[in-house]
Amino acid sequence: MVSVISGENGLRSKFAVRRTTSIYKASMPSLVRCSIAYNNLNNNSEQQTSALFSSHQYSMAKLSVLVVGGGIAGSVLAYWLAKGGAEVLVIERSSGSLDKGQGIDIEGPPREVIRRMGHGYLEEIQARSTGETGFACLDDNGKIRATIPGLLTSDIEIMRGDLTDVLTKAANTFDAVTFQYGCSIVAMEQDDAGVTVTFNDSDRSRRTFDVVLGADGSRSKTRQLMFGSAKSDAAIKPLDVYSAFFSIPRGDDTMYATIQPATGCRQTVIRPMSKETSSAFLSAVGKGATAQLEQVQREGDREAQKKALYHMFSDIGGQAPRIIEGLLDTKNFYFERISQVKLEHWSSGRVALCGDAGYCPSPLTGQGTNLAIIGSYVLAGELTSSPNDPTKAFQAYEKRLRGYVEEKQQIPLGGRAPFLVHPKTAWGVWMLRAFFSLIAWSGLWKLFEGKDLRPKDYKFPDWMPVYAHYED
Ligand SMILES: Cc1cc2nc3c(=O)[nH]c(=O)nc-3n(C[C@H](O)[C@H](O)[C@H](O)COP(=O)(O)OP(=O)(O)OC[C@H]3O[C@@H](n4cnc5c(N)ncnc54)[C@H](O)[C@@H]3O)c2cc1C
Repeated sequence: MVSVISGENGLRSKFAVRRTTSIYKASMPSLVRCSIAYNNLNNNSEQQTSALFSSHQYSMAKLSVLVVGGGIAGSVLAYWLAKGGAEVLVIERSSGSLDKGQGIDIEGPPREVIRRMGHGYLEEIQARSTGETGFACLDDNGKIRATIPGLLTSDIEIMRGDLTDVLTKAANTFDAVTFQYGCSIVAMEQDDAGVTVTFNDSDRSRRTFDVVLGADGSRSKTRQLMFGSAKSDAAIKPLDVYSAFFSIPRGDDTMYATIQPATGCRQTVIRPMSKETSSAFLSAVGKGATAQLEQVQREGDREAQKKALYHMFSDIGGQAPRIIEGLLDTKNFYFERISQVKLEHWSSGRVALCGDAGYCPSPLTGQGTNLAIIGSYVLAGELTSSPNDPTKAFQAYEKRLRGYVEEKQQIPLGGRAPFLVHPKTAWGVWMLRAFFSLIAWSGLWKLFEGKDLRPKDYKFPDWMPVYAHYED
């Protein structure tokens, strides 16, 4: 039964709307649930629509927060904000059926943030890990030349979509959290009292929140509305590295990430994903790649991008032919020029950025998910510690994290790492394989095998406080 509680003047209160959606929470997949929420917005009377999108008057007691983006940062923000007593609407532009995305690893402080969420979420994430056991370096014919178990593979290797799924489920356990899919913002204005956003629905509905948090990835719309297009675009620092990520049929793939370097600064990689599918990566580095791929990347035509990559990798043997055949048929193709996001400040008034939107470190660092989780925890913690003073909270968030973020944004080996693992010449490729073979043969990796490198009495680092109000 859907119960409707009318507020003063006959308006449906925010509480009533939340009761309506929470009934569907228990029994329906998120896509269906959110379409219903969205239909409510579009089909109901003007009064009801305005109740959901202009409920500022009903939320004076609780901090009302709009989170833009329902990925990793968005879900973790929603969880910890609700835990700290805030009322949270998360809007996500996709339909809710997320692609599996890339394999990512989690270790150290972010792992601790998830462990502290309790309810077995960390264990569930571990159980859904891809099972990758290390990496193998291949020769030009696709034969394994060296295997290094464990060293570069964390104990939690999970597909990005699976991780988001668990974290969204965790946030959704709070009645104070609502996820709405197929939704974004088109405008934003703020004053001393709050931030009024305009949504992208056909009515261009508006609603005022106490604060807005942008967790909408490296091409953040929130950042653009906060700082203007010119400043937002200038924050994106493109690197001379192009990568394509997609899934291919599993075939006889091992549980290793298999890396095959090729001349011309190119590399192919296959990683385990599920029983039926593997993740495939194609990457190319340097001015040559920029000359060949820049235009198709800018134009955004997926078929043209696939063709350009097919052509670029068609002279390579080993595992490459299988990958480029799979490339033509794959449905979840993602291609980008790898970039970082660097901003002077992560907030402006009552609006702040989190995760890739504010400080994307790029996949080259392997730190994006880590920063998204830690950033969300600290931002939510500071905000719910000072709910009446968002500016103070945002300053504290930035003060705590900026040094750590800048350190994690460093590309390994003084920025040369992409070039070292994408050699140009046959000699360079030979050297790289020899290096991996030496590490494998010498057994140096065994020094780290299966070791939990965190101290036994692991605590949050000092810059990452345990917020008193999160304690049960
Ligand atoms: C190949 C690869 C490997 C990686 N490996 C690792 C790794 O090993 N370890 C690691 O820590 N990181 C890794 N990363 C990085 C990691 O995936 C990202 O840094 C991380 O997902 C950032 O999380 P986020 O929530 O900030 O942004 P995203 O994951 O980009 O999520 C943003 C969300 O916002 C939504 N959105 C966007 N625009 C709007 C809008 N206008 N309105 C509403 N919603 C919107 C998007 O649909 C998305 O769901 C890797 C990345 C890649 C590509």
